[in-house]
Formats: sequence, C-alpha cells, structure tokens
Amino acid sequence: MSDLFDESVRFADLGLNDRILAALDRKGFEHPTLIQAQLIPPILNGKDVMGQAKTGSGKTAAFALPILHLADPDIPMQALVLAPTRELAVQVAGEIEKLAEDTDIKVSCIIGGESMRKQKKSMEAGGHIIVGTPGRVMDLQNRRELSFDRIRFAVLDEVDRMLDIGFRDDIRQILKTCPTDRQTIFVSATISGEIERLGRQFMKEDAEKVETVGSS
Ligand code: ADP
Ligand code: MG
Repeated sequence: MSDLFDESVRFADLGLNDRILAALDRKGFEHPTLIQAQLIPPILNGKDVMGQAKTGSGKTAAFALPILHLADPDIPMQALVLAPTRELAVQVAGEIEKLAEDTDIKVSCIIGGESMRKQKKSMEAGGHIIVGTPGRVMDLQNRRELSFDRIRFAVLDEVDRMLDIGFRDDIRQILKTCPTDRQTIFVSATISGEIERLGRQFMKEDAEKVETVGSS
C-alpha cells in the first residue's frame, strides 16, 4: 500500500483540529494517502471537488476528515453522504464515526431494511452527518422526516457504482433539493463522461478535479 501514501505530508500539516488528529493517531494513520493529501486542502478551503482513486486508497477519510473539521455541532443534518449499497453505507458511516469519536459530531446511517423508527431516533439524537443509500434517503425526505434545508456538504461516494446501479434520477433529485450554497464532493474509482457532466451541472464553476493513477 506504500505507493498509495504521500509520505512527504503528515496529517498534522493539513490543518485538521486536534480532536481529529487524536482519532487518526489512535487508528494509527500517520501519513495521508495521495488522494487524501490532494482532496483535504481544497475541501477545507470550501471548494467543490471531484476525486478519483482506486478502491482501497482511503477516499472515505479524504472527504470525511475535512467535513469533520468544518462541521458545526449546532447544525443537525448538515452533511449528506450517499453510498451505492447498504453495506457500503454502513461501512462508511462506521469509519466516519470512528474519526469523529473525539468531536461533538454525530453520524446517522439511513438504509433500507432497517426500522425507520430507529433511524429517525438516531437522527434526532444528533445526526450532523447523514450517511445513506439514495433510495432510503429520498423516502425519508418525501415523508418529511429528513430535511435537506441545512445541508452544507453533499457527498456522492462511489459515483460510478451509483450510476451503474441506476440511481441517476435519485441523485439528481437529491442534489437539486439541497441548498445551492453547499459544498459538493464526488469520489469514485473511475470518472466517466456522465460523472463529469453531473459535476458540471451540480458543482460550482471553480470545482477542482483530482485524479490519481490507477483505477478500480
Ligand atoms: P476507498 O474508499 O478508496 O476504497 P477506504 O476509504 O475504504 O478506501 O479505505 C481503505 C482502507 O484504508 C480502510 O481500512 C481505511 O481505514 C484505511 N486507510 C484510509 N486512510 C488511511 C491512512 N491515511 N493510513 C492508513 N490507513 C488508511
Ligand atoms: Mg470507498
């Protein structure tokens, strides 16, 4: 995995707060991966980003760390992270939760096949960052149990897989409903023409694109 890392950089150099650095320390993360070193600074600077890196290169922390740094504990439902499958949503929510352990930021996971009541309770208990699959997120939004009004960060994780699965309409609908002054972040193992067009439609004009070597 050593070709994945940028060993010239330490997490402490990236300007992340001490609570986040403590969690990274516990996890034994010392150096950011290439995609992390390239995505964290622009996200911290408020930019929209589209990041490509192969599977296993640390894309979750690449978007989660700067969001945790910028997140406001007084604002519920301020970040929405969409993942293609339940399993991935659970995995991503778990990873963000670990990174958030020392912060006041809470993560809620919204997936099909689990009790709505439980998920609603989890959102009410904090739910600053909502991680879910597009279908379930749309469901809850249609029932007015989930609001996009305060969304400051909209993340599409594994965009290529989400499009393969057929979530394009849901994704468009969700992004259209989020406030326009949000930050939009896409990460994916591959970036197709369709993903580029989605980015042009939903990201700010000065969005940054970062590609690392290799795919899948
Ligand atoms: P991707 O989304 O690109 O497939 P993940 O975000 O799932 O990759 O990360 C893959 C694995 O690498 C996870 O187990 C994660 O905890 C670990 N990881 C991520 N960033 C680092 C890092 N900077 N140092 C060490 N391990 C890391
Ligand atoms: Mg991933």
